[in-house]
Amino acid sequence: MKATVMHRAGDVRIEDVPDAAIVEPTDAVIRITRSCICGSDLWPYKSLPEGAAPWRMGHEAVGVVEDVGGDVRTLRKGDVVVMPFASSDGTCRFCREGLHTACEHVGFIGYAGSDGAQAEAIRIPHADGTLYPLPVGEDDALMPSLLTLADVMGTGHHAAKVARVGPGSTVAVVGDGAVGLCGVIAAKRLGAERIIILGRHTDRTALAREFGATDVVAGRGEEATEGVRALTGGVGAHAVLECVGLAQAMETAIEIARPGGAVGIVGMPQFDATPAAHTAFIKNITVGGGPAPVRAYIEELLPDVLEGRIEPGRVFDRETDLAGVPDGYRAMDARDAIKVMIRP
Ligand SMILES: [Zn+2]
Repeated sequence: MKATVMHRAGDVRIEDVPDAAIVEPTDAVIRITRSCICGSDLWPYKSLPEGAAPWRMGHEAVGVVEDVGGDVRTLRKGDVVVMPFASSDGTCRFCREGLHTACEHVGFIGYAGSDGAQAEAIRIPHADGTLYPLPVGEDDALMPSLLTLADVMGTGHHAAKVARVGPGSTVAVVGDGAVGLCGVIAAKRLGAERIIILGRHTDRTALAREFGATDVVAGRGEEATEGVRALTGGVGAHAVLECVGLAQAMETAIEIARPGGAVGIVGMPQFDATPAAHTAFIKNITVGGGPAPVRAYIEELLPDVLEGRIEPGRVFDRETDLAGVPDGYRAMDARDAIKVMIRP
């Protein structure tokens, strides 16, 4: 079968790899019907060193169950399923608490050493706990939005939950990538009154406005901080969603949070020490977040997708087959595309 393999920074290839097959009795194999390229795939695309073991890429997918192991109870061949970016058993203490990304058997799909979803098929460990059956056919018109439940919509929702967005909140979203845009959807969905997006790409901020953003701040650093302060009577936002992962974005997030507010981090940190820790302390700001337990959020978000109340699939502005995936990486890295959907 064909799969996406990254050999080093900037070098993404489509290669023949061994067919996905059941290894453990709790596995399932799914034929991928939709996958996509994630902003987080761009970190290795920029930095994977020469000589590193190649990575099989892709951690977001919708697919059809092709085969199940002998211990799989809830899935059968032919089911259409969404595949969250982390596999989880669904039964351990953390899964029961709704933090599936801390599962005692967690596996991160499409990272070094694991199989990837930018492929024709994939083996999924702990299939019962990981995969979520969808009540639609494999070519349903809602497929782009359903695909976002594998990562970006659940991740934007997580940022909003950690940042304690609620009715009447003033929210600031740092980052205008697919996760930031989904963060806008999530903030509006949770009742935010005012949503300020920080971003410099007008196509993206225009979409953010359609998703519910009320204001756009286009600067970076000090300029962004001043922009948000000017819009909030000098005090900042109750809730800040940090959807980038760079030190400067984190610093901005803390600067624009109002005293007593909260910052929800979902951008993969590209730094070791949290910037602006002193400011966060002085302002009594709660800083939290991490890999979103998207498996836990599907239940809550799915009805809104099925009934058309939210349309996160609009973040996909380009579609390709597997052969076009390397160019999809180039386009997202160059900011020519917001998010690329793959139909293998
Ligand atoms: Zn678990």
